[in-house]
Amino acid sequence: VPASHVATGTGSVGVAQQLIQATSGPGDEVIYAWRSFEAYPIITQISGATSVKVPLTPGEVHDLDAMADAITDRTRLIFVCNPNNPTGTVVRRAELERFLDRVPGDVLVVLDEAYREFIRDPEVPDGVAIYRDRPNVCVLRTFSKAYGLAGLRVGFAIAHEPVAAALRKTAVPFGVSQLAQEAAIASLRAEDELLGRVGSLVCERTRVVDALRAQGWNVPETHANFLWLRLGERTVAFAEACEQAGVVVRPFAGEGVRVTIGETEANDIFLKAAEAFRKEA
Ligand SMILES: *Cc1c(COP(=O)(O)O)cnc(C)c1O
Repeated sequence: VPASHVATGTGSVGVAQQLIQATSGPGDEVIYAWRSFEAYPIITQISGATSVKVPLTPGEVHDLDAMADAITDRTRLIFVCNPNNPTGTVVRRAELERFLDRVPGDVLVVLDEAYREFIRDPEVPDGVAIYRDRPNVCVLRTFSKAYGLAGLRVGFAIAHEPVAAALRKTAVPFGVSQLAQEAAIASLRAEDELLGRVGSLVCERTRVVDALRAQGWNVPETHANFLWLRLGERTVAFAEACEQAGVVVRPFAGEGVRVTIGETEANDIFLKAAEAFRKEA
């Protein structure tokens, strides 16, 4: 992409906040799936705009038809988190294109691809291919996940000129530190090593998901570096059982847990805890 289509920020959350700041204020609406990334309601609320949360389908996937139906003349921005945090589920090319065809050209669609590097399904589109013919589509990427640089705070958007220009206008001057810039460039140069690490993680992901399913768990197909278990009322008890066993999962009380794929040893501890919990229940 041309350099003028790239805008960096303090993590892709920082860039997402700038996008909302540039597009939305009191009286405006921001649409996103729910449950999805926890930062969306926070940055929307800060702008004074109204969140319109569209429930995931029973299969834990973005309900793109319902999201398109939710568009009003107050809608300014729509997040599509692909893969979705915390469920790991994806929207595929045909359904995403169909959705984008329904979105008015003056509504910005933000494809949040924080976990892009963990995708192995060729039917999941690369946002960078999608944005080229669609000026109202913007792609978010980050160095925080596959690149492991979360603490350094560097992410970026790829967007057409008016959007990229708005991002440059709303950026905190020198927000992305020299250290973060150099780390990002160094890690781009170490891409082979990075992709090797991601590859091992994807193998572990398959192993953990298969093992859970063999234990009888219903695990949505995941394309990220975590998986989702919908535990409902048992969520907190499950998270406590994991902690007792020595591993930490992320509970969303009353809904479910997000389990990050870790080192093999930690994954094994988690699998044992999950099995014991199932047997007790
Ligand atoms: C982690 C994450 C981000 C980005 O985090 P930054 O550290 O701010 O780059 C963005 N979107 C989703 C869905 C995430 O999970």
